[in-house]
Amino acid sequence: MSPLHQSPSDKPDERRLSVNPFYGEADPTAGMTDAPPKHRLPDGPLAPTTAYQLVHDELMLDGNARLNLATFVTTWMEPQAGVLMAECRDKNMIDKDEYPRTAELEKRCVAMLADLWHAPDPSAAVGCSTTGSSEACMLAGMALKRRWAKKNADRYPSREARPNLVMGVNVQVCWEKFCNFWEVEARQVPMEGDRFHLDPAAAAELCDENTIGVVGILGSTFDGSYEPIAELCAALDALQEQTGLDIPVHVDGASGAMVAPFLDPDLVWDFRLPRVASINTSGHKYGLVYPGVGWALWRTADALPDELVFRVNYLGGDMPTFALNFSRPGAQVVAQYYTFLRLGREGYRAVQQATRDVARGLAERIEALGDFQLLTRGDELPVFAFTTAPDVKAYDVFDVSRRLRERGWLVPAYTFPAHREDLAALRIVCRNGFSSDLAQLLIEDLERLLPELRSQPHPFTRDRDAATGFHH
Ligand SMILES: *Cc1c(COP(=O)(O)O)cnc(C)c1O
Repeated sequence: MSPLHQSPSDKPDERRLSVNPFYGEADPTAGMTDAPPKHRLPDGPLAPTTAYQLVHDELMLDGNARLNLATFVTTWMEPQAGVLMAECRDKNMIDKDEYPRTAELEKRCVAMLADLWHAPDPSAAVGCSTTGSSEACMLAGMALKRRWAKKNADRYPSREARPNLVMGVNVQVCWEKFCNFWEVEARQVPMEGDRFHLDPAAAAELCDENTIGVVGILGSTFDGSYEPIAELCAALDALQEQTGLDIPVHVDGASGAMVAPFLDPDLVWDFRLPRVASINTSGHKYGLVYPGVGWALWRTADALPDELVFRVNYLGGDMPTFALNFSRPGAQVVAQYYTFLRLGREGYRAVQQATRDVARGLAERIEALGDFQLLTRGDELPVFAFTTAPDVKAYDVFDVSRRLRERGWLVPAYTFPAHREDLAALRIVCRNGFSSDLAQLLIEDLERLLPELRSQPHPFTRDRDAATGFHH
């Protein structure tokens, strides 16, 4: 048996952990004789201080989360949120009957999101917390598939009726997983020229009687751009007029569903569009909560086929639940409620605006260096992608990523997907906690590196795939 992340060539590591004599709690020399094995359960126990110190020491080599500009996931919360989470770390989200107040806070969060995303009747919207957007997308995709299957019960299952889901090639990997796990064909609209996300007309063209839905992304992980959800719905309205096909839209708002409502209130992307059947977001991205919490909401109960919903005991009655896991930590949901209460709309607006200001300012300053070309400017998601200018031949984006890492900054470089495989870019995800002061330090480090990069004889990246382990 090997863990999933072990490559077949890895040999089992038989070396033992080395224990500093100081770590032996009662007997300092005990640590020297008790070196525990790494990959077998040790025969006997260790003192808690020794065990703690061993694990702690090994983790020192992890990157610094606050300097991780690759992740969308929250890396800073207030101490009060940490206290609340510590108080709730023993609570299982599924035990609704035993922890009725935690269950109540989850319900309030769903109601707040339904209202924030303009559900026509927030009390009729249904939703649930999840471990993240991936699970939320699985649930939303399952609902789409089941709705389609029920509508097509006369011909599904059959060889001719193979369900498909239409999306841009820039989708997050969870949609490829969904299609793989649930046996749905992924129909992907490629990128074209300077269009790095879904084209509404091209998406509508890929639809047929076996299309369970179209996924629109707010916004794309590749470059932080919002996909044109309203235009997508309009293209599908036109398709319905021509063909009678009524295809629902799911909005993957993993990041943007917690940005656009506060910073772009006039952008119509949510339940205001009748075709939008469901929306997900990651509470642990711009919802500003530590990992892992996500949310999935459906416009009305009709959008979520009842037979997918399970019921658990709750205060003498039963409570509907929809989830892949049974047990799941409750602390993150509590922390989401805390953050909603703590910030309110105005607080979220202020925090997200500050983050967008940092992103836009940093993007401009990188552009002003002259060596780089911006693909996006941080004015949708506070995220931007950039590449090297055409006349830069001495180094490439992978060199920049590697050299920044020497200074502690984690800035991923990656190649784009179908039709733009020629394009390689760097991406910076700005989050609350990445202040303009930190951004200034990043710029200074980049400026310091540039003369050395410019004097390279050629880019040092031989294997682009090996240059980055970046998978969004
Ligand atoms: C991050 C992300 C996901 C996956 O979300 P997790 O919360 O990490 O599971 C899905 N879609 C998009 C657009 C994302 O940005």
